[in-house]
Amino acid sequence: MISTAAIIAPRAGAAFETGTVEHRDLRDDDILIDVKFAGICHSDIHQVREEWGSAIFPMVPGHEIAGVVAKVGDGVTKHKVGDRVGVGCMVGSCGECEYCKNGEEQFCVKGSVPTYNGKDYDGEDTLGGYAQQLVVSEDFALRIPEGIELDAAAPLLCAGITTWSPLKRWGAGPGKKVAVIGLGGLGHMAVKLAAAMGAEVSVLSRTDAKKDDAEQLGATGYHATSDEETLKALRASFDIIINTVSADLPMGTYLAMLKPLGVMANVGLPSNNYEFPPGAVIGGSRVIAGSAIGGIPATQEMLDFCAEHGIAATIETIGADEVDAAYDRVVAGDVRYRFVIDTSTIPSA
Ligand code: NAP
Ligand code: ZN
Repeated sequence: MISTAAIIAPRAGAAFETGTVEHRDLRDDDILIDVKFAGICHSDIHQVREEWGSAIFPMVPGHEIAGVVAKVGDGVTKHKVGDRVGVGCMVGSCGECEYCKNGEEQFCVKGSVPTYNGKDYDGEDTLGGYAQQLVVSEDFALRIPEGIELDAAAPLLCAGITTWSPLKRWGAGPGKKVAVIGLGGLGHMAVKLAAAMGAEVSVLSRTDAKKDDAEQLGATGYHATSDEETLKALRASFDIIINTVSADLPMGTYLAMLKPLGVMANVGLPSNNYEFPPGAVIGGSRVIAGSAIGGIPATQEMLDFCAEHGIAATIETIGADEVDAAYDRVVAGDVRYRFVIDTSTIPSA
């Protein structure tokens, strides 16, 4: 087994501890990654706090992983020692179903293997990226292009691909008005990516606090949603709304902001059900859609697009002892715009 220093949630809602966890010895198709940085996604918080139902503990969260290949299995062809690589939300899939064959592993019929808080097909619990090392099949490691620093690259592996997928699918580009609800980790990537795709981007945030930032990120419109009059004035304004909010929203009000035939793509995953009047989608023949991360080929395409357009996440780097405090700040909407853990600060056992 391969022992590695990690940041561990011992049980739901408890403070993090540091310690050692074990990964399998390398199989033929595995690579060992020296993890350099791991982003903190709000999904980590939902899972550590069991907001999505019961979870597997002890848990090492982290599915926004950037590092360097330290060792390769005998049959590895896609990566070599020293390569800069990233790992996102999946570390396995059946490879045989129509979705896997199509590069949409997130829809794998057998169920794709989550990077942590899941079971691998061999029954082992998966352990994520808040650690110094990770063993993963080469098929689930992405190439991080030169030109993107590893720390700012890490959040692309989840926040980047999760917003890239619906923007591509629903045709964000020149002539399209895109609104992004919630300017957090996913939201700020949605703004950067949509602007780079050529769309006209507006941010819908709760207050005016992030207005200047939104402009810097590439938005040309900004609206504080705490003002009811603003919400009404935005009726029928947007072609695409990307909803990144991790909590309940008055969906009817936001659906009304779509133009006829407009699409609201939801990526935020609150624990409660959506509620909206049927007229809010039927009037205007609007579409209410969801979107789950993205497949491996799309993730590589997104990374290459980011390198080409000089895009990466806007981050605050923290040490291993700051993760609990960072979680509280994310929940309070107080992150500019993604926390990234420098894994060299995890004490060795
Ligand atoms: P985040 O950084 O916390 O950003 C969420 C933003 O939503 C906040 O910055 C805040 O923006 C806004 N917000 C928070 N609470 C709100 C409330 N009560 N009312 C209105 N707005 C509120 O979180 P994230 O990491 O971007 O993740 C967002 C959500 O996406 C989470 O639920 C996460 O689990 C989910 N997710 C889904 C996928 C997928 O595949 N679909 C992948 C990753 C994450 P303002 O301060 O600007 O208002
Ligand atoms: Zn995530």
